[in-house]
Order: sequence, then C-alpha cells, then structure tokens
Amino acid sequence: MADRPPLLSLDEALARLIDGAAAHRIVDTEIVSSFDALGRVLAAEVRSLLDVPPADNTSMDGYAMRAGDVPAAGTELAVSQRIPAGVVGQPLLAGTAVRVFTGAQVPPGADAVVMQEQCEALPGDGLGRVRVNMAPAAGQWVRRRGEDVLHGAVVLGPGTRLTPQALGLAASVGAATLSVRRRPRVALFSTGDELVMPGEPLKPGAIYNSNRYTLRALAQAAGCEVQDLGIVPDRLGATRDALRRAAAGSDLILTSGGVSVGEEDHLKPAVQAEGRLDLWQISMKPGKPLAFGSVGRALFMGLPGNPVSSFVTFLLAVAPVLRALQGMEPAGPTPQPLRADFDWPHPDRRREFLRVRLNAAGALDLFPNQSSGVLTSTVWADGLVDNPGGQAIARGDAVRFLPMNALIGR
Ligand code: AMP
Ligand code: MG
Repeated sequence: MADRPPLLSLDEALARLIDGAAAHRIVDTEIVSSFDALGRVLAAEVRSLLDVPPADNTSMDGYAMRAGDVPAAGTELAVSQRIPAGVVGQPLLAGTAVRVFTGAQVPPGADAVVMQEQCEALPGDGLGRVRVNMAPAAGQWVRRRGEDVLHGAVVLGPGTRLTPQALGLAASVGAATLSVRRRPRVALFSTGDELVMPGEPLKPGAIYNSNRYTLRALAQAAGCEVQDLGIVPDRLGATRDALRRAAAGSDLILTSGGVSVGEEDHLKPAVQAEGRLDLWQISMKPGKPLAFGSVGRALFMGLPGNPVSSFVTFLLAVAPVLRALQGMEPAGPTPQPLRADFDWPHPDRRREFLRVRLNAAGALDLFPNQSSGVLTSTVWADGLVDNPGGQAIARGDAVRFLPMNALIGR
C-alpha cells in the first residue's frame, strides 16, 4: 500500500499522544463545593491551616489520667471532671481522673486514657471515684494533636483526582470549596452504516451500536463532559460536517470505526480536510489502528470499530491523554505480577492485552475467546494481561496484570 501507516510501539505512540495533549492542556479552573467535587481533578493544592486532630483527644469512652498516678492495677482516683466530645475541659487536677467520651479533648496534664471496661465507677462525693483495673502506659488511647495532619501540610496536590476519601480528607482540614480543572469536553461520534441504536429494529446487515455506550461511559467515568453526536453516515460531507460540529468547544473529538487501512471510509480524508491527521498502526492487540490529529482547537482520536479494540484503546491510549489534558500524571497503573493458570502457546507478534479473571487461588484464568469483537470478555474480565509481543505463556508463568478497576475512571 502506498501510504502504509507507521508501526509504532504503544509506548512510542503514548509519548507522542501525551506530547500532543500538552499543547491542549486545560487551564480553566472552577471553584466547586467540596460536596460536589467527586471525580474532579484538583487545580491547586489543598493545604491545612490547622492540626488534625486540633487537640489531644480520647479514642475510647473511659477515664483520662496521668499514667504516673496509677502505678498498679486497682489504684483508686477521685473523678474531678466529666468531658463529653465537643466540650473543652479544665486542666487535670493532680491525682484525679476525668470521665471522658470518645472524641473528647484529653485535658492538659492527662497523658493516658483507660477504657471504661477496665474501670469501676465507685460512689463518692461529687462525681465519685474510679478504680482503675490496669496500669496505663503514657499515651494509651490518646489521639495526639496533629497526628493525622500538621498545620501547613499539603494534604492533596494539584492533579489529584478527588476520590471519596480525598473529599473526606479535604473536609477534615476545613476545605468547603475546591479549585478544580474544568472537565474535559469530549465530542463523540460513531461511524458505520451498519450501526443502529438499541430500541430500533435490527434491519438485515445491521448491528447495534455498542461503542457509543462504552465510549460515552468511559469518558464520563474519566470525568469528562460528553457531547454525543450519535451515528454519522459513511459520507464525506456528513463526516466533515460532524467533525466541524464536534470541534466547536470540545477538547477532544473521539470517534469509533473507519480507521482500518484501506477501508472504504471517510474519516481519514475528512480529518485531513478539516484539520491535521496522523494514522498509526500500533503494535498492540486488540486495537491496532489509531488515528490521531486535530480539528480546530480540538484534539482528534479515532479508535478502531471493533468493540473490544475501542474499549482497550480507550483504556490504554485515550485515558492517558485525558489525564495529560487535566494536568495529571499520565502514567497507567503499575502491572501486578501474577501467576497464569492458563497456556497461551501462540502469541501474536504485537503486544497483547488479554482478558483475564482472578481466580480463588489468586492466579489468572483466561477468557476462552480473545477475539476483538467479543464484548462478553470485557465484562467477564477483572483485568488485562499485558503480554510482550511474541511471548508464549505457560501455566505457572508470572504475567503482568492490569486490574480493570485501576484502568477505568482513572
Ligand atoms: P471498522 O473499524 O469501522 O472497520 O469496524 C470494525 C468492526 O467493528 C466492524 O465489524 C464493525 O461493524 C464493528 N463496529 C464498528 N463500529 C461499531 C460500533 N459503534 N459498535 C459496534 N460495533 C462496531
Ligand atoms: Mg466501519
């Protein structure tokens, strides 16, 4: 073929993609309520202006005291105060104990708490007395001021994806609002005259458009705002028109189908006419063809049409671009070495990403049909084995496992 696209390694392609994304990096920021920031990407660090916890406090219901006042189990002390959570007490009166409840401040002078199960309340004047049935060690059951976060510490850095636990941490240092990147705007369309939408009759020769659902959801899970342009007919004019509409106001145009070599399709000439295009053959399976370029101010990525190929290509090539666009570390998850409980005697020359599932032995089973059209494999699988080109796998070999939940929504 005259204009045979170059064969690139995935790493080489990623380096170029991320380079390309750098020029399109999203700089707009938004201030959002911490309540509504799940999945957003921080634009600025979150720094604590307080110690967390702000004061020494008890992690148990019980009695606070000075450990030195209880040299042996069975020591009795007068109870001089009662401090519930949220109340500031008085400094400890030497030689006494203080009734405290979980989360209450441990008063100055006390250095240990004994849980109530190891104490006996005794009658007496005022708040009574307590017999302490164990000799406490200094520091016991006391959560120290600042043991979680120190005043001035950066608890979350820019480029951090706000997980539920990150939101909790931000709230614990008092952040009511957060500065986040604008969501990436992704314009999506599917090519292919054989495609019909679920809900429509399946005319002869047609298939349902599954990529539209997969890719839209993957982009949403990655924190993007999706502009869904639907199915674009296999005609040059319509494709050019769709590209122009997609380019307006979007950061990334994502398409599926029509990027195989020598195909009767209009995506390639349409992108060339409206913008700039590189067509690559990536040495990976599934997912060989990948088109990359730009239309107007938007990046363009054309994914292969085969459903498993477009799914895997999104996870491995689009997700890092979206991350780079938002100023995040583009790198993917670290592969875990795990044992293969399967044989893969006839590897492809290309780097393969096999659909596998964790078994009860903590090893990996292989989905029997690894064809790039078999979406069942993507639902069955817990992850992908990243297998170097040309490398056979024998039962018992260590392989590189990429968990699906670390690939989706990152
Ligand atoms: P293409 O990349 O256009 O050559 O398509 C490769 C294969 O994927 C063909 O069998 C197409 O019918 C199929 N395909 C393309 N787009 C989609 C889609 N949106 N949903 C499901 N299958 C598709
Ligand atoms: Mg097609």
